[in-house]
Amino acid sequence: VINFNAGPAALPLAALERARDELLDFAGTGMSVMEHSHRGKDYERVHDEAIALLREIAGIGDDTEVLFVQGGATQQFAQIPLNFLPDGGSADYIVHGAWGEKALSEAQAATKWSGGKVRVAATTVHDKQYTRVPAEAEIARDPQAAYLHVTSNETIHGVQFHELPKADAVPLVCDMSSDFLWRKTDFSPFSFVYAGAQKNVGPSGIVIVLAKKDFIARGRKDLPKIFQYRTVAENNSLYNTPPTFAIYLIRNVLDWIKKGGGLARIEEQNRQKAALIYGAIDANASFYVSPVEKASRSTMNVVFRLPSEELEARFLAEAKKLKMVGLKGHRSVGGIRASLYNAVSLEWTKTLVDFMRDFAKKA
Ligand code: PLP
Repeated sequence: VINFNAGPAALPLAALERARDELLDFAGTGMSVMEHSHRGKDYERVHDEAIALLREIAGIGDDTEVLFVQGGATQQFAQIPLNFLPDGGSADYIVHGAWGEKALSEAQAATKWSGGKVRVAATTVHDKQYTRVPAEAEIARDPQAAYLHVTSNETIHGVQFHELPKADAVPLVCDMSSDFLWRKTDFSPFSFVYAGAQKNVGPSGIVIVLAKKDFIARGRKDLPKIFQYRTVAENNSLYNTPPTFAIYLIRNVLDWIKKGGGLARIEEQNRQKAALIYGAIDANASFYVSPVEKASRSTMNVVFRLPSEELEARFLAEAKKLKMVGLKGHRSVGGIRASLYNAVSLEWTKTLVDFMRDFAKKA
């Protein structure tokens, strides 16, 4: 099956095969990794290896904690303002799609506790049609803000920042769920990055957080311990029982990235894949329409429309016959969406491009 799902999404075959081969007997222990104690040496080795691989692949320095947090990126929408929006303070949000809207809405809810406020520093809502990221000049920054929150890639609308807003004295917080580790990235400008694993790095239900130590230290201390990032950091993400099997799979995926040539190689391939699909859209512009402005087109989630919903339904049905799944656009926007995460191969992408060309010709 050729899997273009938006998340949970395709995972590298090598990472899954490794899990299959070790499922019943992990590292010669006679047990599955998910049957091991999270306090035992065998699991701990996997846990520490996952963190070390991430540090190595992404070039994460000693000033930054690598954390595993449960509850999905959605929980982060609430947990971030609870921690970092001080009493009477203010936080800035950039909104260019549905996930930024959700992050904003949860932050607004969190102001009930802090008495703080949340500001929209920039939005490209334009009658609910997010088709681009805001330009730097459009971002009305509050120099006193506790942080500036941005979504690097809007998964539903297919709108991506190719150059993220500049970091200044205000800490930059980024939801990188759907474009984490897709390319070489300098993480040093960010105070806090979070990414649900289920797109580029693993299964769902776990979030990878990269947080500057000094930023974590600013977090509120009057929250229940489980909601404070310092608790997670002080306990190497083992304060309570973590999703051990998910972390094990993340380890396998990170190992696959490393052995495949690291982020530079992944980036090259991801750019080729996106260029192929956008090339097919532009070459058949009277048939396929990308609603996203060219400079904001996502390399991870390519969204496009066909001349009618009926043709879109036929496109999906015929694609399915060729074993291509996961191409239906999000229910809130309709249309077609091809998600091209790291595990989606160039060959799969070419199969889709050939199909797009043939379908447009036939229709
Ligand atoms: N942020 C972005 C950019 C996403 O794409 C998603 C899910 O697709 C989320 C947040 C929410 O993630 P979760 O469902 O794991 O809470």
